[in-house]
Amino acid sequence: MNNHNALYIIATPIGNLLDMTQRAVDVLKQVDCIAAEDTRHSARLMQHYHIATPLIAYHDHSDATQVARIVEKLRAGQSVALISDAGTPLISDPGYRLVTKVRSEGMTVVPIPGPCAVIAALSASGLPCDRFSFEGFPPAKQKARQSQFEALLKDTRTLIFYESPHRITASLADMRDIFGGDRQIVFARELTKTFETFLSGTLDEICVKVAEDDNQRRGEIVVMVRGAQEEEKREALDEATEKTMRILMQELSVKQAAALASKLTGEKKNRLYQWALEQQGK
Ligand code: SAM
Repeated sequence: MNNHNALYIIATPIGNLLDMTQRAVDVLKQVDCIAAEDTRHSARLMQHYHIATPLIAYHDHSDATQVARIVEKLRAGQSVALISDAGTPLISDPGYRLVTKVRSEGMTVVPIPGPCAVIAALSASGLPCDRFSFEGFPPAKQKARQSQFEALLKDTRTLIFYESPHRITASLADMRDIFGGDRQIVFARELTKTFETFLSGTLDEICVKVAEDDNQRRGEIVVMVRGAQEEEKREALDEATEKTMRILMQELSVKQAAALASKLTGEKKNRLYQWALEQQGK
């Protein structure tokens, strides 16, 4: 059996309680204790699978003493499991400090793989899965969020974000401004649960759908953005449009210059915005 003294990183369901692997249940029953992000929340899962192992709290605000306590148990020959509220620990969840510490002490860390929202969403999205970038939660502050999206504008990989219902409208609006209304996205919600939904379309289309239907702003959300197309990156502006942009950029913000030049020249606002960002980066 696996139960020698190691730290086991155990994935748990992201909604549907049946998505628990047999190995996860076995190891959770056999370890000496389970470090959980929220012990009350995890009690339900433990009850469902008749797991009686003691739970202790571990979250990102846990102080060094808590990390030291777990390391001490491992040193004493015990085995410990780490779980989060849902999905794979450390993936936008606590555990990084603990795993780093345990590894730095030369002790064993064993993953017990299972549910993870980013992988579940991507696997059923229909977007390219050969290369992707998981970006976690976009920053809460708009300026930082926009900067993150700008840095990803030319990335050709599928981009994947977690987002909360109360920020989804603002985040989608910023994505539309920066990636352009034509960029394809897949909006995945409530995976493995009763109201599991996949919406595919352009950012313009999905922004409208999410604004019109309150239900789309409920529950848990993963947003996947198709990567930039190679030809999009290389396209040059014609001379007159480029001149208009250069003049406007001396007086206005990049966003304002792109919007006004789009009206003057008929060129797509996003194309102009992208071009302006490229110039700034030169
Ligand atoms: N560790 C988890 C994992 O492996 O996916 C992620 C934890 S993170 C704190 C929570 C976020 O993950 C949610 O806000 C949502 O963006 C995403 N998420 C988790 N469960 C989900 C689900 N059932 N459907 C869609 N997104 C989900």
